[in-house]
Amino acid sequence: MTDIEPTAAHDLVLANRILAREDVLDAFGHVSLRDPADPGRFLIARSLSPAQVTAADLQVLDLDGRRLAGDERASYAEVAIHAAVYRRRPDVRAVCHSHAAPIIPFSVTRTPLRPITHVAAVVGGDVPTWDSADLGPDLLVRTAPQGDALARTLGTGAAALMRGHGCVVVAADVRALTLIAIRLVANAEQLSASLQLGKVRYLSAEEIARSSAAILAPLSLDRAWGYWVSRVEG
Ligand SMILES: [Zn+2]
Repeated sequence: MTDIEPTAAHDLVLANRILAREDVLDAFGHVSLRDPADPGRFLIARSLSPAQVTAADLQVLDLDGRRLAGDERASYAEVAIHAAVYRRRPDVRAVCHSHAAPIIPFSVTRTPLRPITHVAAVVGGDVPTWDSADLGPDLLVRTAPQGDALARTLGTGAAALMRGHGCVVVAADVRALTLIAIRLVANAEQLSASLQLGKVRYLSAEEIARSSAAILAPLSLDRAWGYWVSRVEG
């Protein structure tokens, strides 16, 4: 990891640890950061569970998902997700792919996953679902065409579900990414519980816009990040 900028490496390691600690990632799933030194590359751990990632485990990949020469350690099977999003979305500087259990019911039914709380407004509106079956029976995203199709479904949004598999979450920085990834899962849990009780009242578009702006503001984001860091370092 000799040419990885230390602050970026530190943030990415923390994001791995936090997202594992908060039950967004488990043995599987991964998080990446666009290389601040070269927007044509991204940083991601070698194939390792996120709770165990250290700075020494980080790899540098190009936007075709290829490791920089000299790093022979195995990469995650689904780096094509990250590469495709970075190719398509110049505004995105951080990506998370998870298999978090609470979101799965919304990926296999037509019940929409959309925000019901102010803190989940960061998810945006309806979260679209991508179906890998459109391209064949492989549920894992291993190829550029699969990654491109997923990125098209994501569109300009912050998250997309993957049918019977998980989700992808994207953001302009690693702190916002961590926040959105955590809130997406919490919202799915709360929405599933609410649907058991009766008709659900979702946030309006105006409520989403106002709450999202407030929660993604630096004061709120720094406070949330400090809280999550304290939980992994505590
Ligand atoms: Zn996966």
